[in-house]
Amino acid sequence: MKTLGHWIDGKAAESTSGSFGPVYNPATGEQPTRVSLASVEEVDAAVAAAREAYTTWSQTSLAQRTAFLFRYRELLDARRDEIAALITAEHGKVHSDALGEVARGMEIVELACGITEKLKGELSTQVSTRVDVSSIRQPLGVVAGITPFNFPAMVPMWMFPLAIACGNTFVLKPSEKDPSASYRLAELAAEAGLAQGVLNVVNGDKIAVDRLLTHPDVAAVSFVGSTPIAQYIQAEATAHGKRVQALAGAKNHMLVLPDADLDHAADNAINAAYGSAGERCMAVSVVVAVGAMGDTLVDKIAERARTLRIGPGDDPASEMGPLITREHRDKVNSYVTGAADQGAQVVVDGTDFTVEGHESGFFTGVSLLDKVRPGMDAYEDEIFGPVLCVVRAETYDEAIALINSSKWGNGTAIFTRDGGAARRFQLEVEAGMVGVNVPIPVPVGYHSFGGWKQSLFGDLHIYGNDGVQFYTRGKVITTRWPDPADSGGINLGFPTSS
Ligand code: NAD
Repeated sequence: MKTLGHWIDGKAAESTSGSFGPVYNPATGEQPTRVSLASVEEVDAAVAAAREAYTTWSQTSLAQRTAFLFRYRELLDARRDEIAALITAEHGKVHSDALGEVARGMEIVELACGITEKLKGELSTQVSTRVDVSSIRQPLGVVAGITPFNFPAMVPMWMFPLAIACGNTFVLKPSEKDPSASYRLAELAAEAGLAQGVLNVVNGDKIAVDRLLTHPDVAAVSFVGSTPIAQYIQAEATAHGKRVQALAGAKNHMLVLPDADLDHAADNAINAAYGSAGERCMAVSVVVAVGAMGDTLVDKIAERARTLRIGPGDDPASEMGPLITREHRDKVNSYVTGAADQGAQVVVDGTDFTVEGHESGFFTGVSLLDKVRPGMDAYEDEIFGPVLCVVRAETYDEAIALINSSKWGNGTAIFTRDGGAARRFQLEVEAGMVGVNVPIPVPVGYHSFGGWKQSLFGDLHIYGNDGVQFYTRGKVITTRWPDPADSGGINLGFPTSS
């Protein structure tokens, strides 16, 4: 069995804690790898390396920082397949989906290549006689990143490229369920010439996270994961004086109006609900069907759902892979088996499902539940699996009231041909990311990503301009070079411009 350790100060660091967690291949159920779970001392070693590196890295010129980022971008481009294969082997998603994840992560490296434009600062000359004022942004110090299992390459890349481009150093704590792709990103950064200690990876569980949240040398924490943990991260890290952004869980609604192209809507509902086995924070998990066309839409979705090819992620014929663990698969299935008792209609039941030759894999089929209502478990909880709920609504007003009463507000979408309705929806809906005939509106790298309500704790979204704001702090400098002939004299009054 392979053992994955940590990456500290530019090199591999073997476990000293003696504590390990299992890493499965979800397609086979086998456990080819064990991951080291860091002790407090191992986390301290990573933070110390990052702290030491910060002294030099924060002073390294923008030219040298961006030269690294361009090299890194090229290396990632050349290694897309290899990174995607690592993701598939531990997460289970199909190879094409894993390649998409790498591409979307690389967008942030590309954004970071242009950091010079973002860090230009502002200058006002002659704000008062012989007085100039400039505003600059400076790095924070050591930043920690704590990431979820569902995007083991993309979500870390939402964080560290921009953080280090801004002059910070970074300690990443990836998900212990599929850590190899995140670890490889750090190895590749070293191969691209990143200075030692600028990017460190500590593998681990709650012990490692808790140490990062309380460590006096960690200035800021970027977190992406489930809502309860995000809430905990924000409370604990802010109590220890750190800047925090904690992106959290979701239940994304797709509103379909009667005038929509129903084939287009059905295709998009399928892609967004069942892609990556529903293990996406931007997955569509609820379709809100408005008016009498609901029956037709459900038929069209069901027809398509029954044709999906489910199998190992490394089989090019597979469109959907397994779930991350056996326990998670069983939990997802329990929402489907319990749905009928709560009054929902199970249109497609994927719970009794195996893949020939992969009987021990963590597979489930896709499920479609109709006539779902608020209050049912399948509606209230984030299932995070290939289960699509359909809620019926009589009118647009009823539908938007439903969406806006959700405790989450990550992404949402409207499907319609009516520009006026789409415009109303954009302005009225309470969510951070909105799609118009786009079911998974994940913003491009140069816009920012983030939800509202219980989908994000903290003030700033991740990457884009918000990311630059998050990873830097402002400094305003007021400068006067006095005229030797006019010292100004003594004046105890509050300074005003003149
Ligand atoms: P998770 O919250 O279980 O784990 C996320 C990270 O927190 C991991 O690194 C994990 O080791 C750590 N962690 C887990 N329990 C902890 C505890 N008790 N104390 C301290 N640290 C702990 O999330 P997950 O299951 O890995 O990922 C799926 C979740 O992430 C879903 O809820 C999904 O919606 C969410 N997610 C959100 C976004 C977003 O941008 N909003 C993106 C991706 C995933």
